Amino acid sequence: MKHYLVLVLALAALLMSGIGMAAAQDTRLNIVTTTTQVTDLTQILTEGVSGVAVTGLMGAGVDPHVYQPTASDVSALNAANAVFYSGLFLEGELSDTLDALEARGVFTYAVSSPVDEAGFTFGGATLSAELTDVDDPHFWFDPRNWQLAAEGLAETLAQLDPANAATYAANAQAYSAQLDLLYSWGQEALAVVPEAQRYLITSHDAFQYFGDAFGWQVRGLQGTGTLTEASAADIQSLAGFVAAQGIPVVFVESSASSSAVQAMQQVAGGAAGIGVRPLYADAMGEPNSFGGSYMGMLATDIITILQSFGYDVLPFPADLDLQGAQALLGS
Ligand SMILES: [Zn+2]
Repeated sequence: MKHYLVLVLALAALLMSGIGMAAAQDTRLNIVTTTTQVTDLTQILTEGVSGVAVTGLMGAGVDPHVYQPTASDVSALNAANAVFYSGLFLEGELSDTLDALEARGVFTYAVSSPVDEAGFTFGGATLSAELTDVDDPHFWFDPRNWQLAAEGLAETLAQLDPANAATYAANAQAYSAQLDLLYSWGQEALAVVPEAQRYLITSHDAFQYFGDAFGWQVRGLQGTGTLTEASAADIQSLAGFVAAQGIPVVFVESSASSSAVQAMQQVAGGAAGIGVRPLYADAMGEPNSFGGSYMGMLATDIITILQSFGYDVLPFPADLDLQGAQALLGS
């Protein structure tokens, strides 16, 4: 009887260690991602592929310009086979960590690189005193750039995991078709605002690509980075512009600091209002919320702009796979 029990326990232990080994072997590709947008894109492209783990470092509402890696981030990065980041110095405080990983032979990839290579980035932006003449990192706000990023990331995943190349390509293609629908809807929806009124005033200059994609003029209080706070002169100058142009509403961002929010209240002064809700700029909403995906984030911003300017929101086309906007639309 005793021998039997020992045998059962030994078998159980063997089985459990076997299961453990199988689980470890099952994760062939351990990917760490930085921003919420990069995490979302990586999850979408790896859907249906087993053995891929995706760990995102930054959560909802996190400002990537000033984000510093935590101890658990460092251990996640140390265990990664591949690290995907946004790039163009968006994650400025992570660049040393990324360099160190690269030096150790860890595969790192900037999701912005196909956009940069195609020459679709805007230059001359100032992120901080140390970084001048670097490109504006907010490339994702043009859905056409995000399509390029998706294609590039699918190709990168195929290089890392050739056996599933077809799935990555198919996922990218299906996603790109959805981005087409989102872009057309957004253009049509925003076109109800008369051209002379299309001014998007935000707390930091994250919307240049958005302005280019959708035909809006944009101005941010801070530059394309958030490391340096706006001065009283910056506030006064933007407030003067808002008043002179008769701009009815200005916006704060979900990832903005409280001082940036206060500064925008000063910009608005008595003349302009503050948007009905903050815009998503550098971070998406909470996971599983409507704004918790790239597509939901962009749709939310468009809805927020229209509602803040006092216009009706065009319904989504039937083929656009975006559910859960009812709460935003108040219906
Ligand atoms: Zn930014």
